[in-house]
Amino acid sequence: MSTTDGPDFAERLAGVRQRIADAAARSGRTASDVTLVAVSKFHPAGAVREALACGQLDFGENYVQEALAKQESLAGVSPAPHWHFIGHVQTNKAKDVAGRFELVHTVDDIRLAEGLNRRLPEAVPFQKVLLQVNLGHEPQKSGVEDEALPQLAEAVMQLPRIRLLGLMGMPPFFDDGEAARPYFAHLRELRDALETRLGCALPVLSMGMSGDFEQAIEEGATLIRVGTTLFGPRPVKN
Ligand SMILES: *Cc1c(COP(=O)(O)O)cnc(C)c1O
Repeated sequence: MSTTDGPDFAERLAGVRQRIADAAARSGRTASDVTLVAVSKFHPAGAVREALACGQLDFGENYVQEALAKQESLAGVSPAPHWHFIGHVQTNKAKDVAGRFELVHTVDDIRLAEGLNRRLPEAVPFQKVLLQVNLGHEPQKSGVEDEALPQLAEAVMQLPRIRLLGLMGMPPFFDDGEAARPYFAHLRELRDALETRLGCALPVLSMGMSGDFEQAIEEGATLIRVGTTLFGPRPVKN
């Protein structure tokens, strides 16, 4: 699977891990406080297999059909990948997502949460989720608006088979990762306020991608979603 020129996956992974450790140290934490999710969308199952062999365990996918096909072709591999769903989920796809992903990062609507709650297979005790916040108030992006977040969180917490663990957010796109920093700080503040309001811990902050994961970690990310820096440019989807 390795390319003929440039660093291979193992080298890119080592580079990202070093940058995670350095950024974590700058925020008074250690690398083990930050989960690296390798975003494998558009990359073949073989790329995931190669990453697993390098010790990378967490993978993020955006599209339900692509993700399920990849899971199927990797069924039984050891170690088993931990799958994260990081794309928009239509309410009618809740049944395909529930119980098949360790963490669903993108709940932004109570009907979706209810669908996950209802369609979770009996064998799976609960579905862990994050609430996605539309940090830049961009109409083309998913996510709940700040004002609606407390009410959504309270409603999600009523669902017996859903475990709310925290928040996920994506700033508007900037060439310079520094420009994303205030958005990350804002997501952390929203999380802190929500913890106080709900009286429970929301330990997970999913924020930061290839261009800005160091700033995200410095602002408190516990989980980063990195695609291009690990796998190289995404192949064009046909
Ligand atoms: C594609 C994607 C990523 C990874 O983006 P890179 O810039 O390639 O690191 C992270 N999060 C979400 C939600 C994505 O859709």
